[in-house]
Amino acid sequence: MYTDTLLHIDGSWRPGASGRTIPVEDPGTGEVIGQVAHADRADLDEALAAAERGFAVWKNTSAHERYLLMKRAAALFRQRADSVAHRLTCEQGKPLAEAIGEVNLGADLIDWFAEEARRTYGRVIPSRAAGVETFVLREPVGPVAAFTPWNFPINQVVRKLCGALATGCSIIIKAPEETPASPADLVAAFVDAGVPKGVVQLVFGVPAEVSGYLIPHPVIRKITFTGSTPVGKQLAALAGLHMKRATMELGGHAPAVVFADADVPRAAKLLATFKFRNAGQVCTSPTRMLVERPQLQTFVDTFVAYAQKLHVGHGLDPATRMGPLANDRRLLAMEALVADARACGATVLCGGERIGTRGIFFAPTVLVNVPPEARILHEEPFGPIVPITAFDTFEEVVAESNRLPFGLAAYAYTSSLHTAQAWGAAVESGMVSINHHGLALPELPFGGIKDSGHGSEGGVEGLEGYLNTKLITRAAL
Ligand code: NAD
Repeated sequence: MYTDTLLHIDGSWRPGASGRTIPVEDPGTGEVIGQVAHADRADLDEALAAAERGFAVWKNTSAHERYLLMKRAAALFRQRADSVAHRLTCEQGKPLAEAIGEVNLGADLIDWFAEEARRTYGRVIPSRAAGVETFVLREPVGPVAAFTPWNFPINQVVRKLCGALATGCSIIIKAPEETPASPADLVAAFVDAGVPKGVVQLVFGVPAEVSGYLIPHPVIRKITFTGSTPVGKQLAALAGLHMKRATMELGGHAPAVVFADADVPRAAKLLATFKFRNAGQVCTSPTRMLVERPQLQTFVDTFVAYAQKLHVGHGLDPATRMGPLANDRRLLAMEALVADARACGATVLCGGERIGTRGIFFAPTVLVNVPPEARILHEEPFGPIVPITAFDTFEEVVAESNRLPFGLAAYAYTSSLHTAQAWGAAVESGMVSINHHGLALPELPFGGIKDSGHGSEGGVEGLEGYLNTKLITRAAL
């Protein structure tokens, strides 16, 4: 069922002009399962020209027609969920049930943005002078360049694609070369739903070459990137140099605070579930467990028991609860983080090493007694490793929650409304979820602060980045 992936430029699916391709591997077996077309400068020039023409068409397509087309695309994508999810699991590794969830959430996001396409309201401002009318209009910003990563190959694209399409922008998507087929399936749903040619382009290539060419190009009016903070800073700097609007969804290192008055076994199970989802390769993953000291042992015992029972295997095996890492870079990163923690004196309670040699499997890993200098307490793990640390006072845990330059997601468990309110107010984070895991739904804003980026990719805020504000003040003749 896995197929090779082509570029989509100006309404056509086609190979790159040079004919070059990049191999795609199944991280659960290490085998090459397909090829993805590689875009060179000539392909990018065509994509840019098409996006410029597509924008002229799409910005003049009524909001109602945009809504209808997006609804058709959502329905097609939902119908194809099983085959898309299969390809997603083969190229990315996540368990099939998670892949089906990603496709269905993708369809829900399209539906939600389709509805919002009809609500990009402006406003009328009362004038100071008689006979003067003053309006604020919201207009599409223009052709968008989007750069997306491999951890959620569909959902990292769909938020950007839908923000652009709902508001009347055209888009060039540079999707991940390691997981190209499932984002191509997403684009195919829009193409089959009848999106005019030139409105949506899909390219693959050398990421730095593509972004280095597209971002400064005069056709592109906005960029949006999801990925690591160091790359995000480079791209934001380039966007700033060329005065381009930018949305940045970058890394995190989310504190998960468990106060002693919480239902601690429930908190441990929920946090373990979300920590090991997608093998920990999730930007909002709870990655720093901070537990009030009297409950430390209960929390650790429950968490470790969960980690040890987790069935790790190929994503297509129905028994699998955690798949492989998505690429070799994550394996090297996991091994380096564990080696550093051990060298600093941390205790590895479970996992800590690769499983087998076929496929890129890493055991769910729990660390305690981690000294403050260990890298795992400073760097986003982006894998199935978690440190658990005790705290003694509210002030201490607020300081620890806010210690890092990141501010994407933060979690807390407590039965005290007072504590929930006080911690929620004090934590520096774009998204805060207390007593449950409630992020990333279509209607909710999604985005970080500090080094985790700026802008939002959900909720009504998700459309803001794709809209210009135009003031018109008009006096009667
Ligand atoms: P990376 O920083 O090299 O790449 C991250 C993503 O950015 C990839 O999709 C890559 O193709 C893209 N990219 C890299 N350089 C680029 C450039 N110059 N222009 C355009 N796109 C570029 O790292 P990686 O090894 O792929 O991933 C590891 C780190 O990335 C993780 O530690 C994590 O912090 C971060 N990451 C974050 C998310 C997220 O959801 N925020 C997703 C994937 C990776």
